[in-house]
Amino acid sequence: MNAEVEDNRRTLASDMRRAWLVELRRLLFAVGGGWLVGFLFSAPHLGMAAGLLLLVSFHLRLLYLLARWSLNPHRVELPESGGVWGEIFEGLYATQRRARQRKRKLASILAEFQASTAALPDGAIVVTPRGHIAWFNTAAQGLLGLRSPQDIGARINNLIRHPGFQRYVEQADFSKDVQLPSPLNAQYTLNLRLIPYGNGQRLLIVRDVSEHQRLDRMRRDFVANASHELRTPLTVLSGYIEMMHGEAGRPDSALAAWSAPLGEMRGQLGRMEHLIGDLLKLARLESDTPAPRNEVIDMEKLLLDAVRQAQTLSRGAHHFDSAIDETLLLYGRESELQSIAINLLSNAVRYSPDGGSIRLEWRTAREGGSEYPLLRVEDSGIGIEAESIPRLTERFFRVDVGRSRATGGTGLGLAIVKHALEHHEAELSVTSEPGEGSAFSCHFPSYRLYREGEQRRVG
Ligand code: ADP
Repeated sequence: MNAEVEDNRRTLASDMRRAWLVELRRLLFAVGGGWLVGFLFSAPHLGMAAGLLLLVSFHLRLLYLLARWSLNPHRVELPESGGVWGEIFEGLYATQRRARQRKRKLASILAEFQASTAALPDGAIVVTPRGHIAWFNTAAQGLLGLRSPQDIGARINNLIRHPGFQRYVEQADFSKDVQLPSPLNAQYTLNLRLIPYGNGQRLLIVRDVSEHQRLDRMRRDFVANASHELRTPLTVLSGYIEMMHGEAGRPDSALAAWSAPLGEMRGQLGRMEHLIGDLLKLARLESDTPAPRNEVIDMEKLLLDAVRQAQTLSRGAHHFDSAIDETLLLYGRESELQSIAINLLSNAVRYSPDGGSIRLEWRTAREGGSEYPLLRVEDSGIGIEAESIPRLTERFFRVDVGRSRATGGTGLGLAIVKHALEHHEAELSVTSEPGEGSAFSCHFPSYRLYREGEQRRVG
């Protein structure tokens, strides 16, 4: 390959040398010829000047033709010429040929790309840095009702007017996606995701997730209905067992021998009731809307109640300490905030050995210049291995199943916490050291913060 390039270079250099010799010959011919003709008419200098004038006119003509060609290279042809001009024209033709070939290749790549994206079941829309539609495929027409070519060049925000989409574009966090009802039929749900690429361009991918949602809803309804149906027979059973266990406790009772098994049955029934309660709570959380942004919750009262419940569970075996900023209130939903606090505190009790300490903090923290509310529950318990931390909020995930069951755990507590936090646009972060303890921090967004005495948000 290198030898070929070297050969080419050598040929070009020798062509160029030859071309300059032609030019030199032309010059000598013009000067010499002019001198000779002038000499015949006894005016050799005039003859030389005329010869040079002819040569300059020849070059000017070719320069003019080159300038004309450069203005319209597709219509106008360059003349055949020898010498340096011939080399220049040849070089320009070669460059033009290469550019044409490259253009054809790009056009065929583009056509292939458009044909393959047109066949995609997902909608694909190319959005310019200024938010205008540059191109879309056939699926995008079907999903969003875009029309070709009328909507090319239109602003994407004018065509997808749902507030959820406008917020998504403004927030510009393109690691996330957004779910919206289809503008053509509200029964269908679309999933939209903007993918930035190139120089500020974005690709909007639109997917119909209605079927996925329907299946998800069926699964949720099934769990909620099954749990609900199980609740009534369990309550009846539990009532009888409770009564029989009480009866078996009397020394002269016919059921005295059944006291231990009845006690075990009572314990297991209690666990089942707890499990069903948690399943129903999760189902409710999944179908509920985000927490209201105009209802103020008295966090001090709510958190003190939760601490009292945790102390009852601890039966005095742990040391409690709380630091609550009583002026700090939160816009949110009370039942969900209760669930968050109670689950985190009861976990701290259940996973800390007797004598351990538990600390609850309700304060603000700062990040990037803004202040946001933070709920933190810290314990000096058994801790969690780093590899288990990302899985803690999965349903039924337990680091130690035996310990969780023995302390009355359902494996759903942190899943409930995660969902309740999502309803408040809040995030959970966990730090832990095995054998040292754990800290669970809930970071609420700053717009949910409400300081006592401030004007309340309405509506
Ligand atoms: P469970 O009902 O089993 O406690 P959770 O969803 O509340 O279910 O918690 C999931 C798992 O996370 C627990 O089984 C436990 O292994 C671990 N875990 C939760 N909180 C703590 C904590 N404070 N200290 C140590 N491990 C914890």
